[in-house]
This record gives sequence, structure tokens and C-alpha cells, in this order.
Amino acid sequence: MIDDPVLVFSVDVAMADAPREAQRLTEWLVASGWVTASLAPGPRAFATGTVTEKQGGSVEVIAEPTLNMEGADMESPLCPYCETQVDIFALTDEISDDTPYPVVRCEGCGRGVAYLDWPGTSHPIMSNLTLALDAWMIPSDDTTPSSLVSEIRAEMGGRWLQMWTHF
Ligand SMILES: [Zn+2]
Repeated sequence: MIDDPVLVFSVDVAMADAPREAQRLTEWLVASGWVTASLAPGPRAFATGTVTEKQGGSVEVIAEPTLNMEGADMESPLCPYCETQVDIFALTDEISDDTPYPVVRCEGCGRGVAYLDWPGTSHPIMSNLTLALDAWMIPSDDTTPSSLVSEIRAEMGGRWLQMWTHF
């Protein structure tokens, strides 16, 4: 049973642009057959095996500030310079609506590291436009040309991250 959502979100959409970008994303998802007009999985989702007939699936387009989290037992990331593990709260305490991606100082080497330069998605990451895919099978190898995530990146532009959640 796969019921944990996959989150696919932009880190480049400003809040002021989120409703318009959400509409553009939704229209493209429908036009390309990934979802139906009622936001149920579309023919392309079934044809690619991303959603199964037995499992079903749902889609939610969220155009508001969202703190995306993997869930329980998150491991905070290692400094990209010295591999010291940052305290997860040192990261999250710096986040605000005005500063969604703060510079966080590494306790190991003292460098200020931009929020999105902390590797991986094991730490919470803010977004203003998020696609929550419940019971969809999105391969973690998102370099596969046919994958939904790759197509969203190509269609929408900017940086899109993918996160599995498991609460
Ligand atoms: Zn460091």
C-alpha cells in the first residue's frame, strides 16, 4: 500500500506569482494527460504505471507557503564543505516567510551555507507552489526523461525538488 505523498515543489515561485503558476501547472497537467479536469489521475498516469488502477491516487496543487518535510526520523544534512552534520533546529529556526531560504552557519567550519546548498531533501524546505501526489509512484531517479518531475521542470522552468514523505 502506497499512501504517503510525493511532494514536488518549486523553490523559485514567489508568493505573488503562486496562484498564476499553480493555474499554469494545473492546465499543463490536464493538457498532457497526467491528470483529469477534476484532478484525478489521468490516462498518462495509468499508461506509465505511475498510478495503478487498483491503487488509484490523488493530486493536490497547493499555492501557499508550505514547509515541506519528509517526516519522522529526518537526518539533518552534512555541510557541503566539511561534512559536519548541522543541527536540524539550527536550520529550521532561521526560516521565516520573509526569509524562506536563510544562510545558516556551519558549526564545523564556520562557513555561511545557503539554505538550498545543504544537500538533499532530508531537512524541511519552504515552497509557495507544491504538488502533493498521494499514492503515485514517482521513481527517485528523476533524470528519467519520461518522468513527471522531469517534465514539470521542463515545462515550468526554475528549480523543482522532489521529496518522499513518511509520517
Ligand atoms: Zn562546514
